[in-house]
Amino acid sequence: MKDNLFEKVLEFAKEYNAPKNTTYAAALTKSGKILTSVYVDAAVDSAQLCAETGCIAEATKLKDPITHSLCIWYGPTTDTKILSACGICQERLSRFGMDVMIAVSENNGEVAYKPLKELRPHFWLDAFNEKSDNQEGK
Ligand SMILES: [Zn+2]
Repeated sequence: MKDNLFEKVLEFAKEYNAPKNTTYAAALTKSGKILTSVYVDAAVDSAQLCAETGCIAEATKLKDPITHSLCIWYGPTTDTKILSACGICQERLSRFGMDVMIAVSENNGEVAYKPLKELRPHFWLDAFNEKSDNQEGK
């Protein structure tokens, strides 16, 4: 199923047919659903929403955790590029656990995924999570 994400997001992007280059996302959920979403523009930069945000909100609404997330840059005047999740989206995706697989930017045209914990090896929330190796000797 994860292998279909790139095809699905590209299909969605072509169908959406935005007049200019923008970002699109697709996410695979634990139950096998593929969700799609698009970047939301706003006059104030801080009000803009990354493409992944719609998938994250939909998965939350469905109570169906995201297992894989992919974001692309696509449009009439650009080559399609895979974009790694930005810091804010990594933060948002962490609600599904640090094993969520994130498509990462590669220049070879291949879709590669890395677990969120590999993108964020020193995640701030780990300070509050007890790890089993910290329990030794207690
Ligand atoms: Zn983002």
